[in-house]
Amino acid sequence: MPLDGGGTKVGRNVDFVGARVVDPSLALDGIRTVVVRNGTIAALLDRAPAASDTSARRIDCAGMVLCPGFIDPHVHLREPGDSHKETLATGLTAAAAGGFTAVAAMPNTRPPIDDGQRVRQLLRDSAAVAAVRCYPIGAVTVAREGRALAPLRSMAAAGAVAFSDDGACTTSLKVLFHAALLAADLPMPFLSHCEDPSFAGAVIHEGETSDRLGLPGSPSLSEAAIAARDILVAQTTGKAWHLCHVSAETTIGVLEWARAQGTRVTAEVTPHHLQCNDEMLSSFDARCRVNPPLRSVQDVAAMRVAVRRGTISIFASDHAPHSEEEKEAPLSHASPGFSGLEVAVAATFDALDGLPLATMVANYSTNVAALLGVPGGSLQVGSPADMTALYLDRPWTVDPTLFVSKGRATPFAGRRFKVRPAMTVVGGCVVFNAAAPTQALPAPAGR
Ligand SMILES: [Zn+2]
Repeated sequence: MPLDGGGTKVGRNVDFVGARVVDPSLALDGIRTVVVRNGTIAALLDRAPAASDTSARRIDCAGMVLCPGFIDPHVHLREPGDSHKETLATGLTAAAAGGFTAVAAMPNTRPPIDDGQRVRQLLRDSAAVAAVRCYPIGAVTVAREGRALAPLRSMAAAGAVAFSDDGACTTSLKVLFHAALLAADLPMPFLSHCEDPSFAGAVIHEGETSDRLGLPGSPSLSEAAIAARDILVAQTTGKAWHLCHVSAETTIGVLEWARAQGTRVTAEVTPHHLQCNDEMLSSFDARCRVNPPLRSVQDVAAMRVAVRRGTISIFASDHAPHSEEEKEAPLSHASPGFSGLEVAVAATFDALDGLPLATMVANYSTNVAALLGVPGGSLQVGSPADMTALYLDRPWTVDPTLFVSKGRATPFAGRRFKVRPAMTVVGGCVVFNAAAPTQALPAPAGR
């Protein structure tokens, strides 16, 4: 486990004093002092211990909301193979600055994470960064090519927390079906990128905007059809399943049908699919190119409703950084995806204003820990002291030139948001502190 037994940046015996502690796993919402000893939650106290009673460091958290650490189940860290886009150091530091205490890394690196040795290598390399925890996701098929099954059991033994060919769907239904059968007794879920490969090359959602612009589009059907296919595999095999970055209203209907059948399937939504629509591509702005594409205004509204109804219960950034050259190419040549870690939390809270805070925290923490079977998601005594502290009303403007991530493209550039990460704590170590930043940070209000 990254950081365990190591990292003593500020000491691992800390009293976090006076925060509003929100933990859905404990049904807790109140002012508490979180007592951390040796990197573990030791107590949640109604009052701060007297300074004379403890030799621990005290951190004043008045004005902050303190939650179980946020876990991003879907990031692309680009290393090995594409360190010009992102490195483990920049990606994991960006995660800390975005308020995440852990991320799950998709396997579409070069080479891909498709055997046990590469899983172990990523665990070693990410632990050396000593920022946030990094959980490898193993590929379903060798080289993510959809043909030969990857060694799922050896990846599981090495520490993979899930399996996915994300970046694309697993093209062969036969291979996916056999993979799910073979892995049916493993606890690791399958994570589906739902886009039918026959629409590869599309640059935009297929609808009125794509018609007007004369651009090749990918319709909602592309997503919903693969979602339905993969849910049927889950039903047939009993395998735990998760749909990545749901974007289309049609897919929500498929999900609701699956739930009614009692199928074990969860789903995530990204901040950009909760906020942005295909009209943003009217000016051929390649920053807004992403897979699955930004969809219609109606789809965006449907995503918000799906979260409010609990049909979608997990948030993910789908952090997918690219170099400036790769994003500034003409739309048809620009790489799909953009940097997400440092703006995800603010953009998600903004999209879902009014949703109970406990639900927001569950969707960013408790539910993700449950999906991936990883520690965290709770401040219960004995848990690792992984915590995310937020300011709920500290307006700031998104300035991508200040991102820690190497990827500077984002559809949120210039947007103003209220919620900001205040502090990120991993195993009792403060790995990010907005009050004393060691890295470039989002600009505070008024700058
Ligand atoms: Zn994907």
